[in-house]
Amino acid sequence: MGFLASVMDILFPPRCVFCRRFIRSGEPDICSDCRGSLPFLEGSAAETAGEYFETCLSPLRCEGSVRAAVQRFTFKNAVGYADCFGALLADCIRENLSGRYDIISWVPLSETRLKTRGYDQAFLLAQAAALSLDDIAVELLVRHTDAKAQASLTDHSERQENVKGVFAVTDPELAAGKRILLIDDVVTSGATLSECARTLLEAGALSVVCAALAKG
Ligand SMILES: [Zn+2]
Repeated sequence: MGFLASVMDILFPPRCVFCRRFIRSGEPDICSDCRGSLPFLEGSAAETAGEYFETCLSPLRCEGSVRAAVQRFTFKNAVGYADCFGALLADCIRENLSGRYDIISWVPLSETRLKTRGYDQAFLLAQAAALSLDDIAVELLVRHTDAKAQASLTDHSERQENVKGVFAVTDPELAAGKRILLIDDVVTSGATLSECARTLLEAGALSVVCAALAKG
């Protein structure tokens, strides 16, 4: 370990991403207790259906310590979680979606929200997952308007209406004829992913599959 890394470990001892217990330096970001007890999803339980995308896979259920960790990542500046989350997502993609996409992209934040938050968590997640897959994540979408936070809406049709028309394709030539893998942090109703997929298909994309770290 380098000197700087040792100093950083003393100043900021590494903690498990999920339960926040201290872990030894050099250990994986997830402690052995969490590895054995996190709500991992398999088979059809890991899938979310959507109108415009073929499937959405999630390695984890969004509950308990998973929900808390995702919230720290999304809202509380815990951007360092991207490596751990990206690796979990990459495993899930490798297992379930290999050979089903040509380009990796993500569900973007609006410009306004990006300014207040300072980072786009789905972008960080997509970059980290792509890196684990020896790939890159490419920007394909922008979010024009700031819809109400989807979390504040409980009704599926309300969620669908709320995101309608808010996305646009940045480079239609890049999307045309491609099978696209879209990445997001959490999937709940699938309405946001579906609207992204609809926008991409309208621009000529061949198909869309999705992966979200946690399923709500
Ligand atoms: Zn833990």
